[in-house]
Amino acid sequence: MFLGDKRMCVKYVAPGGTGAAAATAAGGAAAGKGGDGTPAPPSPDAQAAGRSFHNGRFVRRLRELAAATPGVALAQGTVLSLVEDPATGTVTGVRFRDGGPGSAVQTATAALTIACDGCFSRLRAAAVPPPPGAGPPPIEVASRFVGLLLRAGSLPYPAHGHVVLADPSPVLFYPVSSTTVRCLVDLPPSLPATTDLRSHMLGVIAPQLPDGLREPFEAAVAAGGWRSMPNRTMVAPPSARPGALLLGDAFNMRHPLTGGGMTVALADVGLLRSALAGVPDLTDTAAVAAALDGVTAARKPLSSTINILANALYAVFSPGPAASRRHMRDACFDYLARGGRCATDPVAMLGGLRPAPYLLIGHFFGVAVYGCGREVMVGGGVAAAWRLFRDAFNIVKPLIDGEGVTAVRWIPLARLGGA
Ligand SMILES: Cc1cc2nc3c(=O)[nH]c(=O)nc-3n(C[C@H](O)[C@H](O)[C@H](O)COP(=O)(O)OP(=O)(O)OC[C@H]3O[C@@H](n4cnc5c(N)ncnc54)[C@H](O)[C@@H]3O)c2cc1C
Repeated sequence: MFLGDKRMCVKYVAPGGTGAAAATAAGGAAAGKGGDGTPAPPSPDAQAAGRSFHNGRFVRRLRELAAATPGVALAQGTVLSLVEDPATGTVTGVRFRDGGPGSAVQTATAALTIACDGCFSRLRAAAVPPPPGAGPPPIEVASRFVGLLLRAGSLPYPAHGHVVLADPSPVLFYPVSSTTVRCLVDLPPSLPATTDLRSHMLGVIAPQLPDGLREPFEAAVAAGGWRSMPNRTMVAPPSARPGALLLGDAFNMRHPLTGGGMTVALADVGLLRSALAGVPDLTDTAAVAAALDGVTAARKPLSSTINILANALYAVFSPGPAASRRHMRDACFDYLARGGRCATDPVAMLGGLRPAPYLLIGHFFGVAVYGCGREVMVGGGVAAAWRLFRDAFNIVKPLIDGEGVTAVRWIPLARLGGA
């Protein structure tokens, strides 16, 4: 069950996601005519490569592959709600309309209903039973992205994605064809709601961009027609109702700075497929629940690594006015620029090739210690070093606690207090 999708959007899937995709029908959709064939830069693992492609064509191709699978019937419509057995609370399908608002409401029944209706999921709240005394999983809007398509933009490193560490927050560029570059301008929550976006982009962002991108950027801003999207974050809820499960952004979201959403979603599809293959009868809710418990544990290393990295990097790259935060951004850049494992490990984690939360925490605090050392060396002293360390801790600890990974979560401090 799906909606017709008119979005014009290009996505990048990291090597870890294309590996997962290759194990599913999505591999055919990305590699076949769904993809535009733009290869991503080489990854630290020479065997692995990411891909960028036109999202609409990718999804259309996936639907064609699904439709060609024996036993599959596709229906296009708007899902209104889950249907549940009032006696047991088990989800037994969905209510939907296959036409406009006045069309008849129909019901589709299923032993297992998989809700993957994206970041604005209408089904999430009903599919996830809130823990006793608690509400639905908290969703934060970390920032907004304005998307632009630059004609004839020339990237400093062709065929590579670029993150410009601009103020107040980063700007992303990546190639989507030999002549077109996708640009995503981040708008942090600190930007007043009354900000005139056109003036912000032309007056604040454009002067910070590299030569070769500035003029096409200004032309794209002047052409208008751009709109902004919220960048939402949400930790994966621990379980869903019997008979239902969530996938993709309906299930788990992180800041899209690192383009990790599809990697996590496709990896989850691969894990689910393997787990459910061992359940002969999907109406056996106990067997399905046991299989899903296994998936919850198995997905943690990859999803937590990508989620924490994305959210932490966004926080580091959007420092605001505090000197300690700006110094941390500089330290992070210089740490990555050192090369060797300072660069290859973070890139491998970002690309979904190293699902290793401990390694991530190690590098994060490596950046913090490196930054503290610089503070002491350049004369800021111990107080400045402490402020930087405190800020680093305060960025990453809530993320570790939220994901529930690594022994760092046992440190009984959610934050370090002010200096
Ligand atoms: C600006 C931006 C850029 C991004 N760039 C990247 C990137 O480069 N790489 C990457 O990996 N990730 C990226 N992401 C994240 C990525 O878009 C998501 O993680 C991914 O699309 C999640 O897939 P999904 O299928 O869960 O949701 P979606 O792709 O949002 O798909 C949900 C589908 O459900 C349909 N639907 C919704 N409600 C209903 C309903 N009631 N009934 C029927 N159908 C319904 C929608 O029409 C849609 O087709 C980006 C996110 C943003 C905001």
